[in-house]
Amino acid sequence: MTNILFSLPWPLPARATRQPIVPVFLPYAGCPVRCVFCAQHIQTGRNPAPLAATLKTALAVLRHRREQGLPPAELAFYGGTFTAQPPAALRACLNLFETACRQGLASTFRCSTRPDAVDTPRLALLRDAGCSMVELGIQSFDDAALAAARRGYDGACAHAACQAVTAAGLRLGVQLMPGMPGVTPEIFLRDVSRLCTNPAAVTAHAVRFYPCVVMEGTELARLWREGRYIPWPLETTLDALAEAWLMALHARMPVIRMGLAPENDLAAALLAGPWDPALGTRVMARALFRHVRRGLEARGLRGLIRLEVPRRCQGYFWGAHSELRAAWAGLGLATPPVWSTGHLIRIEARSAP
Ligand code: SF4
Repeated sequence: MTNILFSLPWPLPARATRQPIVPVFLPYAGCPVRCVFCAQHIQTGRNPAPLAATLKTALAVLRHRREQGLPPAELAFYGGTFTAQPPAALRACLNLFETACRQGLASTFRCSTRPDAVDTPRLALLRDAGCSMVELGIQSFDDAALAAARRGYDGACAHAACQAVTAAGLRLGVQLMPGMPGVTPEIFLRDVSRLCTNPAAVTAHAVRFYPCVVMEGTELARLWREGRYIPWPLETTLDALAEAWLMALHARMPVIRMGLAPENDLAAALLAGPWDPALGTRVMARALFRHVRRGLEARGLRGLIRLEVPRRCQGYFWGAHSELRAAWAGLGLATPPVWSTGHLIRIEARSAP
């Protein structure tokens, strides 16, 4: 039995932007339907308000930032179907950005919308108005899943929308929803792989993973109560997200969000589903563990003798509440890892007898 030394890459997660973002929440603005899982007023912590009041508040936030000596921000219009708003509402949003820009309060903006609500003229309008990124609520590229969730478009439409955004010279953000009705872990990972391994088809500059949860007041809550929808268990979700996060890490694709933010009303409205305040930590911890375990398996190695891990993993290495201690011990890790600088995991392990 001999000791083998080898290393594995552990790249720094790609970041989409370093610019501060000021969100402007427009719950359900422009939405042609209320999607079965959607509770924007809870997810964003905002009830729909008159547009003029929302925009006025956003301008006040931007001015307050400047008074504090903060740099110009990126405005982010979230929570609805930005490009499907009535023309006057869309124009009011663009005017707000124009004013903020003129006053040196903002330098660019992004928006979220549906794939069936973008076309070349609308994307050109956004680009010419100073938009940097369009985030598409794709949820899945799978036809059957999109039909099961009654999204109202198919995979070809989702695909074409992604291409239209980048063809317009805009950066593309993609939102996927593991656990949406009809989405299995296999379908979700196929969707992620489509973004990570086929950049010629879809070049996403950022991705968000929002595991599907059941919120009070949604159509999904009714389906869940009738036993017609079963959310993914948390364990399934963590495993699928760990795989997805690993794929994105190696493809240098920024994952800018995993799971819903813990807004005040969320806990009271959450009926079921894989929500966890430590979701990101748990996912990254599992991803790292799997990466090392696969490295050992690929070389036919047995027990870990020594493990050196980039220091930036320190915050998540053991998972939430040290949940992965037993798993690491099962790989033979008897002592804590050595924290290092750089982007490599260095491993010393025993060969099989
Ligand atoms: S998921 Fe998107 S399109 Fe559907 S209701 Fe919510 S904000 Fe509107």
